Amino acid sequence: MWRALLLFLLFVFIARAVWRLLMGVVQGASTGTPAAGAGARPGTPAVKMARDPICGTFVVPGKALSLVARGETIYFCSEKCRDAYGASAGARA
Ligand SMILES: [Zn+2]
Repeated sequence: MWRALLLFLLFVFIARAVWRLLMGVVQGASTGTPAAGAGARPGTPAVKMARDPICGTFVVPGKALSLVARGETIYFCSEKCRDAYGASAGARA
């Protein structure tokens, strides 16, 4: 009896963890809108960081400026870096 109850609780716990993970992926990919409380906890790496190729700063994709180049989305910390990247890419092409 207790084993069944423990297994049930374990299942609920895992299901909730998987659900939260899925919701996080969907929210991060589609809207970029931070979930309630998600952005309010510093030091919790909830989001995958992207690297600014110009200055090397790590930025949060949902809040950073972005540019799509050759089917790849690149994120920048500022307009200055985005312009610098666009200028260099344009000069090469
Ligand atoms: Zn930068």
